[in-house]
Amino acid sequence: MHPRLVRELKTVKAMIRIYCKAHHHSSGFCEQCSELSEYAERRLANCPFQEHKSTCGKCTVHCYKTKMREKIIKVMRYSGPRMLFHHPFLATAHLVDEKRNLQPEESAQTTEKRKRP
Ligand code: SF4
Ligand SMILES: [Zn+2]
Repeated sequence: MHPRLVRELKTVKAMIRIYCKAHHHSSGFCEQCSELSEYAERRLANCPFQEHKSTCGKCTVHCYKTKMREKIIKVMRYSGPRMLFHHPFLATAHLVDEKRNLQPEESAQTTEKRKRP
């Protein structure tokens, strides 16, 4: 996995951890959040944009299944504003990534053939 995606994975896991601690009173990941974390990791590994991606929140492909997308949106809404306090480097890098432009359509179309689990 490209270092950019490794960092994204760290960011999403940190967000899920913050959410899980507050909502499920877990010190790590509860079963439900563990499933979400693993799912996010698989989606990142198969992302058609790879290291050229913007943030998933700004993505035009939306490769998440509806149920998982709803879950990750809840996590991001809660943990996003708290990231600056808990993980300032990851939070700042995420803000920079949001400014990135996605790669051309064909990049996504090429890999859209990858199956959604
Ligand atoms: S396709 Fe979009 S939603 Fe899926 S991992 Fe890539 S950037 Fe995120
Ligand atoms: Zn949890």
